Amino acid sequence: MGNKMTVYADNAATTKISPAALKAMLPYLDEAYANPSSIHSAGKAAADAVYRARVELAENLGCLPNELYFTSGGSEANNQAILTAAEIGAAENKKHIITSKIEHPSVLRVLKRLGTQGYEITLLDVGENGIVSLADVERAIRPDTCLVTIMAANNEIGTIQPAAEIGEICRKFSVLFHTDAVSAAGYIDIKPGALCADLLSLSAHKFHGPKGIGLLYAKKGVMPSQLILGGSQERGRRAGTLNVPAIVGMAAAFSEACVNMAKDNQKIARLRDKIIEGLLSIPGAKLHGDRTRRLAGNINVGFGGISGESLLLALDSFGIMVSTGSACEAGAAEPSHVLLALGLSEKEAKSAIRITLGRYNTELEANYIVECTAKAVGRLRSIANLEF
Ligand SMILES: *Cc1c(COP(=O)(O)O)cnc(C)c1O
Repeated sequence: MGNKMTVYADNAATTKISPAALKAMLPYLDEAYANPSSIHSAGKAAADAVYRARVELAENLGCLPNELYFTSGGSEANNQAILTAAEIGAAENKKHIITSKIEHPSVLRVLKRLGTQGYEITLLDVGENGIVSLADVERAIRPDTCLVTIMAANNEIGTIQPAAEIGEICRKFSVLFHTDAVSAAGYIDIKPGALCADLLSLSAHKFHGPKGIGLLYAKKGVMPSQLILGGSQERGRRAGTLNVPAIVGMAAAFSEACVNMAKDNQKIARLRDKIIEGLLSIPGAKLHGDRTRRLAGNINVGFGGISGESLLLALDSFGIMVSTGSACEAGAAEPSHVLLALGLSEKEAKSAIRITLGRYNTELEANYIVECTAKAVGRLRSIANLEF
């Protein structure tokens, strides 16, 4: 008793900053605070730091430094990517956009608005495993399609989409392809070249970098639309004083994630599989999303008859932090749109919890998660007089 273990297992919501990223940032939060747009030598030093970070990110992404635009995060990058393609499309009278039903709200809500502005949106279904079908993508493309936007990996159920194959289809039909790689970046290869992506979004806080900083990749020749107007930062495509410490931290965190990807994934996937195996031995347990085509750290599971929210709170009392669905939708009374798209009933969807592991989770924690979940599920069922 006494010193309760605390386990952070909500890495899809955000991750702990890595010591290396934090260390890289500190000088720019402290004495090296100058504005990188300033002409004096301190400004020049800040601009140099941003330049080095841009080159480092470009090397890890296999792209040109000038194809990267810093944003305030994944949501902004998704907004900007979609509006870019929508504007390019409108100029050619192409106002049809294809996406999937399981995209992040920062994609779906932008598309919903475009739907009220003369664009036609096709929302593709996914299979019950949470994967988009290539045949469906190809069938949906029309002469007036200006954009296909499909995420590289899903934030709630971790399923990995066949983004490279979707990108190839788009290239064949000369349609722009955007992928929301926010959940995938740092965990699977998301080089825009390999995915045939014209536009790609990522966000540092999902791979042990700081919050509030992200990237839009826009292929050479694809000019990002101006979401934020003002100064001439980012070649005039995104106004606002650059967040130098965050940019430096993002570059350090991304390099670290890329270098350690295979090793981290191997460790994380082993813990994930151990937890999945343990949880599936609880009667009435069901794993949501494809068993193997999923991110190394993702476990989305429901237990018959139990609300995910009660289970989350029970686990919290054991010191274990998980989520129901996604952090952006948490607190919403609505069941997850992702789980509904898999064909789950509302009740099943509301029974889900998401356990997401990362680089800093341990075997001891994995065992503790299984042990406490079994206990909590048993207790909640006995309170409700449920038999399983
Ligand atoms: C977290 C996330 C976002 C939003 O990124 P922010 O940097 O938090 O704005 C978008 N898409 C996916 C898939 C995500 O996981």
